[in-house]
Amino acid sequence: MITGKIKQIETMGLVDGPGIRVVIFMQGCPLRCIFCHNPEMQEYDGGTKYAPQDVLRIVLKYKNYFGNQGGVTFSGGEPLAQPEFLLECLRLCKEEGINTCLDTSGVGNDKFNEKILSYVDLVILDIKALTNDKYKEMTNLSIDKNLEFLDLCQKLNKKLWLRNVIVPGINDTENYIKSLATFIKPLSNVEKVELLPYHTMGKIKYEKLNREYKLIDTLPMDPNICKDLENKLRELIKISD
Ligand code: SF4
Repeated sequence: MITGKIKQIETMGLVDGPGIRVVIFMQGCPLRCIFCHNPEMQEYDGGTKYAPQDVLRIVLKYKNYFGNQGGVTFSGGEPLAQPEFLLECLRLCKEEGINTCLDTSGVGNDKFNEKILSYVDLVILDIKALTNDKYKEMTNLSIDKNLEFLDLCQKLNKKLWLRNVIVPGINDTENYIKSLATFIKPLSNVEKVELLPYHTMGKIKYEKLNREYKLIDTLPMDPNICKDLENKLRELIKISD
């Protein structure tokens, strides 16, 4: 029987997709984002084991709250890192007519991506950087899988929300926002863009895990400046919120 590892389940999520949502935070992630505030979710040996039917049972308990827009969001960690489990959870949820959202960096097992996306109504895709060198610096991986996943979303006409964490001294410049706009403009089905201000709440967790925190000298991103950059981006790509 397929099982998967889940770190946490939020039952009344309001930010990871439209409406009221059950958000399933799956354990494990192949990326090592320098700004990650949940390093404990990167490892695959934590979390609690669930069968897809268990997940469905939990999601169904909240179905009455979903209304027209809400549903379930699979987040992480990186949900694509447990592709067979994710696929089965999505399939069961779709069978029950539940709206599905995938919050991902697009880094998973290519073999499953198309099938997984066939059960996904909305993709929330994290953009970490725009060049391979920067992507590697930010995540420790090459940008290829992220771009391939985005291409597949385009090919399959998937609705997209794009997210990018803004880190002082790394990408908090108008030039970066212009490059981001140039990157986003040719994409279709982009419904929303969100710039998330970097914060330092994860720092203490690295100390506890005895791991190096690469942004030790970086201050949190000012949320107001981040909002200004987001508005600028929206103007450039002509998307209102
Ligand atoms: S993709 Fe998310 S969970 Fe994975 S390392 Fe980056 S911020 Fe952390």
